[in-house]
Amino acid sequence: MFNPESFPQDNQEEVPIEPVQEEPKEKKISRRDFLRRSVATLGGTVIASRFGGEANLGALENKEPEKKDLSEVMKEIEKKRREDYFAIKKIFAQSRKIKELKDKTTYLTEEFGDAGFLPRVVFNLERIPEILAKIDKAIELGAENIFVDYENPGDLTLGEELSMYSEGWQYLTKDQKLEKCSEVKFEEFSNETESQVKNALQKKYSSQWLSGTVGRIVLDKNTSDAGGSHGANPFTSNPALSKIAGREGEKSTIRVLSNGESLEEIIDIINHELAHSNDWNSSLLLSMPQRVEFLHDATRAFIGTKEFHSDYVPKYNNSEDKNYKYLKVTEYWAEAVRQCMAQGPENYKQTNPTEYALVKKWFDIINDIKE
Ligand SMILES: [Zn+2]
Repeated sequence: MFNPESFPQDNQEEVPIEPVQEEPKEKKISRRDFLRRSVATLGGTVIASRFGGEANLGALENKEPEKKDLSEVMKEIEKKRREDYFAIKKIFAQSRKIKELKDKTTYLTEEFGDAGFLPRVVFNLERIPEILAKIDKAIELGAENIFVDYENPGDLTLGEELSMYSEGWQYLTKDQKLEKCSEVKFEEFSNETESQVKNALQKKYSSQWLSGTVGRIVLDKNTSDAGGSHGANPFTSNPALSKIAGREGEKSTIRVLSNGESLEEIIDIINHELAHSNDWNSSLLLSMPQRVEFLHDATRAFIGTKEFHSDYVPKYNNSEDKNYKYLKVTEYWAEAVRQCMAQGPENYKQTNPTEYALVKKWFDIINDIKE
């Protein structure tokens, strides 16, 4: 079952990433441009936007675009919207999968209530069928622009929502994931430590794991603590909220609090924090259904495990506070990855089959390794 090709080993060479073939890109226009142009099309209809004041700003700055430019832009937008629509529809057509997803969501809500993560993990599960139904109706009525709400033609948010949901819900291909990877910046490390840490991490991890979500790894020596933290601006780093804000998710930063730790200890801390950045909540490479499945997997593994031992993560206790239970699952995941990397996957598979299976499954999904 262990496939050395699909799981990093300590002595494995980093596979060089081939440059992603640039597809001919559709002409990019900003959301404000889009709204401005749409406003022009609709003869200055007042836009009721649920996304805040930007729509009004667009209306205020309304300038008459050239006729030719406008129709081309609208065609491009419409093409993209239709692609989004079919992609989402395809996901929702798999009713068995959606049923499973709903069951998992219900289970997770019972376990954890609204413990911080749920709004983004289960983001818009209920809203999507409503949007698809509206678009179905628009198509049935022969609408030229399917993103214009037939019941409320002045409201342009349907298209906005559709593309936002489509970004949140579509499964990324390996190439799309690689496109999101950029080199991690190391800060405050000595040159020697930086190259040693880099070297060690590149042997263990793919670019998706190392830099799909993380942008910086910072060493903080002005501390009496040892440990680490990870995170980014909670607004922009939240993929779901970022979409609402119309921004790209900001990469997260790992801080290594060091009080004279050895190289091995520093790498141990980074392994743990990298796992946090690559979880159901923080990863920028997962779709909404995958986030639900991931958290569900981690929770079930933690509840069922007999092999997991950690001084740091207390055992799961069903009667405890929901926020606390959620926090424990989060730390369970990070510690499982850290232990797996410290022991080596082959050893960990023997000592901790439950955790190994969890780590391997989500490692492969984030890396997009086909079984
Ligand atoms: Zn942690």
